[in-house]
Order: sequence, then structure tokens, then C-alpha cells
Amino acid sequence: MKMDIESKVILITGASSGIGEATARHLAANGHTVVLGARRTGRLEKLAAEIRAAGGTAEYRALDVTNLADVQAFADCALKKFSGIDVIINNAGVMPLSPLAELKIDEWNRMIDVNIRGVLHGIAAVLPHMTVRKAGHVINLSSIGGFQVWPTCAVYSGTKVAVRAISEGLRLETKEIRVTIISPGVVESELAGTITDPATQAAIADYRKVALTSDAIARAMAYAIEQPADADVNEIIVRPTAGAQ
Ligand code: NDP
Repeated sequence: MKMDIESKVILITGASSGIGEATARHLAANGHTVVLGARRTGRLEKLAAEIRAAGGTAEYRALDVTNLADVQAFADCALKKFSGIDVIINNAGVMPLSPLAELKIDEWNRMIDVNIRGVLHGIAAVLPHMTVRKAGHVINLSSIGGFQVWPTCAVYSGTKVAVRAISEGLRLETKEIRVTIISPGVVESELAGTITDPATQAAIADYRKVALTSDAIARAMAYAIEQPADADVNEIIVRPTAGAQ
């Protein structure tokens, strides 16, 4: 039996490339309205135009998730334009991996700011609205790095463990808002481009040879979103079938 899919208003952070971009295309093709945020607005403009040309509904806004006011303005902009916010996908992330002994402290802080504070800012921007409506869905991107730690991944894994803890806390504190953690294995994207340590770059290039396309993660998000309101898909892990880990 085919389920009728209710069209939703969905905010996506980090929609300018990789998983965020693929998710925006997939959800828009399924009939949802997507609101795209990231810093590279040229890419968002092009993506929104392509979605509209294909018959979908998309808006975009410049967004730096490390800035709370910016994230609130992103959500406010969606609220003004549409009837409400049904879903936020806190997807923006960075992964400048390196051994701790390299003391790349600015990069550690960057991961904490984008991967943890960015997710918290996304939650803060929609939680009051979703609480009043007694409905909503928060989807947070963790990683297999949220389950397992490898050398060079200490801080990145720390941020992804934090995302899982924050998501679980949010789920326990509300009975009306759905919370989903998506944890991908290796996925083709620009994520490894933030690595500046040459030895880590080489090791990760090898590790990432077997990778999923971003569309696999987009399909997982659609699955969680398109369940009936009384079913909260709490956690999804998606790895490449042929992956090493
Ligand atoms: P990409 O590098 O392709 O995309 C990352 C996105 O985050 C970009 O759109 C980038 O946009 C955005 N971003 C980065 N910093 C900021 C910021 N300060 N404010 C707003 N947006 C920001 O990587 P992926 O698509 O792979 O990553 C998406 C998520 O999936 C991340 O959370 C990542 O940790 C997670 N993940 C990815 C895996 C993989 O193998 N690819 C595996 C496990 C988890 P812009 O630069 O334009 O701001």
C-alpha cells in the first residue's frame, strides 16, 4: 500500500554541498518545501533555481551556524515565508582531522563551534516554535565517528558523540517533537577537504575510497521524515556495504 506523503517545510543547514545538497534535492522531489542555509550563497542560489525549475519549492539564506542570531534569522525567515517549520536538519559540519600532538587548536575549536554549537543553535532556533505547535522534527547528523574513535579523529568523534547525547536528551525531554540521529559511514562529499595535516589527508583519502553517494543518506532522512507523526525513527546508521569499518 502506498502511503500519502504530507508535504512539510524543512530547514537544511549545510545545504551547499554533499549530504545537505542531495537531501534538499531528494526531499523537494518528494514534494516538500526546502529552506537551504550555508555560507556559500552562490551554490544555494543555483541549487534553489534547479529545484524550482524541476517543479519544487525552495528558498535559501546565507547562514553561519556558529552564530546564534544568524540561525535564528534563518528560522524566522522560513516562518515569515511559510506557515510553520515542520523539520530542521542540523547537517552543517566540518572534519579537519589531525593527531592531537599537532595541536591544531583552532581546528579543534572550529569543529566544536560548527558540529556542536551549530546543532545547539539549530535546536534553539526552532524549539520554542515546535513546543507551541506541539509538533516538529529535529534531525541531527552524527557519524559512525559517534560510535567509534580512530587516531586523528579524537575531536571530531567527540563532537559527534556530543550530537548523539544532545539528541537523546532532547528526545527524552519532549513527547511531541520527533528526534532523529543520522549516522553515516563514509559518504562522497567535500568533508575531507577541511583536513590540513598532509599525513592525515593521505590516510583519509585511502580510507574514503569505498564510499556511499550522498543520496543514500538523503533517502534515510526521507524515511524518517515521512513516517506517520506517532512514529519517531530515533537513529539510523548507514554504511557502505563494502566499507572497511
Ligand atoms: P560537505 O563538506 O560536503 O558539506 C558540509 C556542509 O556544511 C557544507 O554545505 C558547508 O557549507 C556547511 N558548513 C560548514 N561550516 C558551516 C558553517 N559555519 N555554517 C553553515 N554551514 C556550514 O560534507 P558532508 O555533506 O559529508 O557533511 C554533512 C554532515 O554529515 C556533517 O555534519 C558531517 O560531519 C556528517 N557526516 C559526513 C560523513 C561523510 O563521510 N561525508 C560521514 C559521517 C557524517 P558552506 O561551506 O557553504 O558554509
